[in-house]
Amino acid sequence: MKAEPRERLRELPAVDQLVRAVEHRAELHGIPRARLTACAREVLDAERRRALAGTPAELDAAVLAARVVEALARGVFSLGPVINATGVVLHTALGRAVLSPLALERLAHVGQGYANLEIDLAEKKRGSRYSHVEGLLRRLTGAEDALVVNNNAAAVLLALESLARGREVIVSRGELIEIGGEFRIPDIMLRGGAVLREVGTTNRTHLADYADAIGPDTALLLKVHPSNYRVVGFAADVPTRDLVELGRERNVPVMEDLGSGSLVDLRAVGLPWEPTVQEVVASGVDLVSFSGDKLLGGPQAGLLVGRRPLVARLKKNPLNRALRIDKLTIAALEATLYAYEAGTAWETVPTLRMLTEPLASIRQRADSLLALLSPTQAERLGAAIQEDQSQVGGGALPTVELPTAALALGTATLPASILDDRLRRAAPPVMGRIKDDRLLLDCRTIFPDQLRELARVLTQL
Ligand SMILES: *Cc1c(COP(=O)(O)O)cnc(C)c1O
Repeated sequence: MKAEPRERLRELPAVDQLVRAVEHRAELHGIPRARLTACAREVLDAERRRALAGTPAELDAAVLAARVVEALARGVFSLGPVINATGVVLHTALGRAVLSPLALERLAHVGQGYANLEIDLAEKKRGSRYSHVEGLLRRLTGAEDALVVNNNAAAVLLALESLARGREVIVSRGELIEIGGEFRIPDIMLRGGAVLREVGTTNRTHLADYADAIGPDTALLLKVHPSNYRVVGFAADVPTRDLVELGRERNVPVMEDLGSGSLVDLRAVGLPWEPTVQEVVASGVDLVSFSGDKLLGGPQAGLLVGRRPLVARLKKNPLNRALRIDKLTIAALEATLYAYEAGTAWETVPTLRMLTEPLASIRQRADSLLALLSPTQAERLGAAIQEDQSQVGGGALPTVELPTAALALGTATLPASILDDRLRRAAPPVMGRIKDDRLLLDCRTIFPDQLRELARVLTQL
């Protein structure tokens, strides 16, 4: 009887009927009527889709109205906080870097009113929005000049379009990477109007490969940080220094897309060596690009530092206008960079703090979380402390495993997948990770002031 579900759909209540059923509910007070209508329509559409997929339609107006109330009770705003219990410090889907208190303070301060965004107050003339971070970036990286755009993908696009449009860019085959989220180096090159000249092989590229490929059409030698993957075993790439020397000899500029790009030496806290931006600048690279919201721990932005004449060409490109950052980004970025200049970044930039937190301290937080559950609740959820590994995320340091402590949940009657489902729909939503049939709530990325709220959510499951 294929027609039956469709037939029954006619008996679904009308949108108006649902709206009338919920509009006087106290918990929906103040919610715009347009929103009630939209939500009622969504609930009915979802029911229609379910019915067409074979589930008998729910026709009871009271049940459907309750769904509208539940959906709206979560709040009228779509974007909101989530408790990150995945242990992935730079989780792209969860918004990557968490801003420092100073960055938030500056952001609110600047956003509240007018600001000297493009005014040179002393000279009484039009200024540049980039001036607010240029000095900091020059001092922190040792570069001659700096520019900031919307994100690092935009930074690479702008650089290629400005320096290599219609000409060749030489890249090692081992560095033709995809970062995820549709960022592929070959595609960006195409968009930037540059012609990709691949050299070497996936696992090995030598200086001679670059040297042989340089011709009259070569505009740029590009080195790309492999970010989220590693070639191990019989592998070789060309050190930045050698590439710089070759570029000098043959009069071709060298750019390095550092991806994450750190301003601090991560070896200081036992993490593997990653070239810092200042090291890459010191090695003589003409232009370096990196993200504002990966290891740097600031707002989403693409930072470009390098030689003045090259940066000047980027600044003059009309495309730059389309990629520019707003005052809120500048405010948060200036505050984040300031923490590096002041030497307080390790303590105040949440990304660095989370990456360096010792296991004992994370373990304490896991213990506190468990202690906030009553023994009956803990037993019902199968809660126990479990040691595991967290990840850096954001395409940075993919092979690094950070020892961590998690609250592990799941029983035969309340399996991990069900708990995961419910936690994602809780208010606030909680995202954990499932491993070996247990739902792990990794305490590395759970903040101390979220413990009570998380315990309340767990109690209400
Ligand atoms: C992450 C990354 C990008 C993209 O940076 P976004 O700031 O996310 O736009 C580009 N290149 C490399 C090497 C990266 O790791």
